[in-house]
Amino acid sequence: MLDTIIVGFGIAGLNYADQLRKQNKDFCVIAPKDKSASHVAAGIINPTVLKRYNPVWNSEEFLEHALQSYNEIQKLLSDQVLYSKPIYRILNSILEQNQWSVAASKPLLEKYLTADLISSEALTNIQSPFGYGEVHCSARVATEKLIEIYREEIIKEFIIIDKIDYQELNIEENSVLYKNIKAKKIIFCEGFHSVNNPLFNYLPLIGSKGEILFIESNELNEEVIIKGPIFIVPLGKNQFWVGATFNRTDKTSNISEEGRNWLIKKLQQNLLADYKIIDHKAQVRATVTDRRPLLGRHPKHQNAYILNGLGTRGVMMSPLLSQWLYEYIEGNFKLPPEVDIKRFENHYFRK
Ligand SMILES: Cc1cc2nc3c(=O)[nH]c(=O)nc-3n(C[C@H](O)[C@H](O)[C@H](O)COP(=O)(O)OP(=O)(O)OC[C@H]3O[C@@H](n4cnc5c(N)ncnc54)[C@H](O)[C@@H]3O)c2cc1C
Repeated sequence: MLDTIIVGFGIAGLNYADQLRKQNKDFCVIAPKDKSASHVAAGIINPTVLKRYNPVWNSEEFLEHALQSYNEIQKLLSDQVLYSKPIYRILNSILEQNQWSVAASKPLLEKYLTADLISSEALTNIQSPFGYGEVHCSARVATEKLIEIYREEIIKEFIIIDKIDYQELNIEENSVLYKNIKAKKIIFCEGFHSVNNPLFNYLPLIGSKGEILFIESNELNEEVIIKGPIFIVPLGKNQFWVGATFNRTDKTSNISEEGRNWLIKKLQQNLLADYKIIDHKAQVRATVTDRRPLLGRHPKHQNAYILNGLGTRGVMMSPLLSQWLYEYIEGNFKLPPEVDIKRFENHYFRK
């Protein structure tokens, strides 16, 4: 009997698999090769909310754990996946310069933000007459590359390339049987697709679609991530990730003319360089009504668990959340109430 079946192999499934790998547990992953939110994410690790000059909830722990985890995972792989990159926030007025200076002196933000402003001359082909504020501890994970390489190099023998068929899943008292695979427990890491999971579709996942563009330009700096009305993220080889839109009504991963035009309009507010659009993609983020992750045990089935609801920060949060979930299942760690799905238990019983 295996220890665990993991369903889904986006960034959540990957980080949970890595927990099990580190603990020498026998596990298998069931996931199709389809692209998911993790594949189109910019992969930015940013402990601050730059619109409101706030730290992310529990930022210090999430940041430290994420950098350490991806660094360790990278050592197992044949290619680099973690890139340390500052974020330059475009400042649009003297007021914004002042707001930046105030934020950079706040106790919770001073460790992330550089107090001295960056001159508007620092980047060529970007229009930012009031200069930039710098987030200096940020990074980028090449999520698509990470998922592909981890799948090929670490779990090739333990992955079943398929969608789970819920009809074939039998959850027994002390084990789980899926077709001919028996395990002690099952962890669902299906992102927004979890709305179709009969065990967990009582949870309030709302979903927020994001469209992005990939552009090519040889006139832009490749060392910094730029944050204006949208992000411009260097990917190497003169390619850049540009995004993203937020759409809470359309829950498909179809690209749209409207999304593309909106992105171009936002891009051109500050970009002076020539560029070529080379791709356009969309996926749905798994966002939750209260904007907190969904972690924990099914109200009725003691061996069915979920790791989901990662919203816009899954890359930064999923390494620590995976550790929390693992220690909750295997040890006696108590999940913080903010993330524990117990907070929605009344939805289950009402259903
Ligand atoms: C445009 C965009 C930009 C983003 N940028 C960032 C960013 O810069 N930084 C950041 O931290 N976050 C970012 N995010 C958010 C981030 O992508 C998500 O928080 C994260 O990827 C969620 O990961 P996940 O593994 O929970 O879900 P997903 O990536 O959606 O993965 C779900 C997995 O489950 C599988 N699956 C689904 N149904 C089944 C089934 N029935 N059987 C088997 N497998 C199944 C899927 O195939 C997939 O492998 C961005 C999101 C979007 C859309």
